[in-house]
Amino acid sequence: LASQAPKRIKALDQDVVNKIAAGEIIVAPVHALKELIENAVDAGSTSLEIVVKDGGLKLLQITDNGRGINKDDLPILCERFTTSKLKTFEDLSSIGTYGFRGEALASISHIAHLTVTTKTADSSCAWRAHYADGRLTPAKPGQGTEPKPTAGRGGTQITVEDLFYNMASRRKAFRSPSEEYAKILEIVGRYAVHCTGVAFSCKKHGESAMGISTPSNASTVDSIRQIHGTTVANELIDFQISDGKWAFKASGWTSNANYHIKKTTLLLFINHRSVESSAIKKAIEQTYSAYLPKGGHPFIYLSLDIDPSRVDVNVHPTKREVNFLNEEEIIESICAEISTKLSQVDTSRTFTTQS
Ligand code: ADP
Ligand code: MG
Repeated sequence: LASQAPKRIKALDQDVVNKIAAGEIIVAPVHALKELIENAVDAGSTSLEIVVKDGGLKLLQITDNGRGINKDDLPILCERFTTSKLKTFEDLSSIGTYGFRGEALASISHIAHLTVTTKTADSSCAWRAHYADGRLTPAKPGQGTEPKPTAGRGGTQITVEDLFYNMASRRKAFRSPSEEYAKILEIVGRYAVHCTGVAFSCKKHGESAMGISTPSNASTVDSIRQIHGTTVANELIDFQISDGKWAFKASGWTSNANYHIKKTTLLLFINHRSVESSAIKKAIEQTYSAYLPKGGHPFIYLSLDIDPSRVDVNVHPTKREVNFLNEEEIIESICAEISTKLSQVDTSRTFTTQS
């Protein structure tokens, strides 16, 4: 008979803990890339170039022209909870940047080979550093860990290689690099539409054809046309609404009653972060059901700004889900505004046809 004595409780190795935490934040290559895009935009970049190999599992590289990272900060760059964007817990409620708890680069360094090359305006050269498990690591065994001077443009290049190399089961779960690449193009496309003033490009390593390429002077509709096609871009109406009581502002572009597709495309940004919300999606589909034929769905780009003190971004480290106060009321006002816009266009069309 097996012993009835309870098994003793032991602490997991820190290394195991770090890997588990990182694997929760970065489930697929696209999650690492999203964090890197947000960092680059936070750094004031006007150009982001992305190169991907094997759906991001072999290589994810993003080159920006932003402020760069101070050489003296490189030793702690990838430690957990090191950030230039937050000092106190209260800062969490007023944060205006994409990142906020300094976990992205740390996480990536625990589950991939990470190289950072960066140059600030006041540095005469760029600096390159390699990371593993939150710390500086030599480029090759036997070499020193300290950052090395190198030639480089102003800005930062982050290279992520062999994602999940030390998580065999996770790595095996990815059967199709092209599926991962599709997810990557989708997120790059979302930020390209949202971040006007920033040029985006994304392509596969070794290929000259661009998966996505939008110039920095593209308008929102220009980028939608580039990425989602002329058909939808020609049928968009813009909307804006704000409300002091619920402390929100919403704006965007939504397809008119002339246009419909099989599945709803919702490009949703809450406080400038790409997020999902089934509640918002459902409400918008409900609104459109009065205007579109059965089975037809809309395209909508919606940017929602809510007073940060009313948003709980801390539900989960991935920050993919967001809770906010008065969700129902806010969604209702947005849908009412969209409905008004749709009926206006509807009437004007009827009028034109009659005259
Ligand atoms: P967070 O974005 O929450 O601060 P990260 O781990 O994503 O945490 O980044 C840590 C810090 O590294 C950032 O606060 C920022 O100062 C710096 N950083 C990261 N990426 C870039 C970049 N592309 N350009 C300039 N600074 C960067
Ligand atoms: Mg970040």
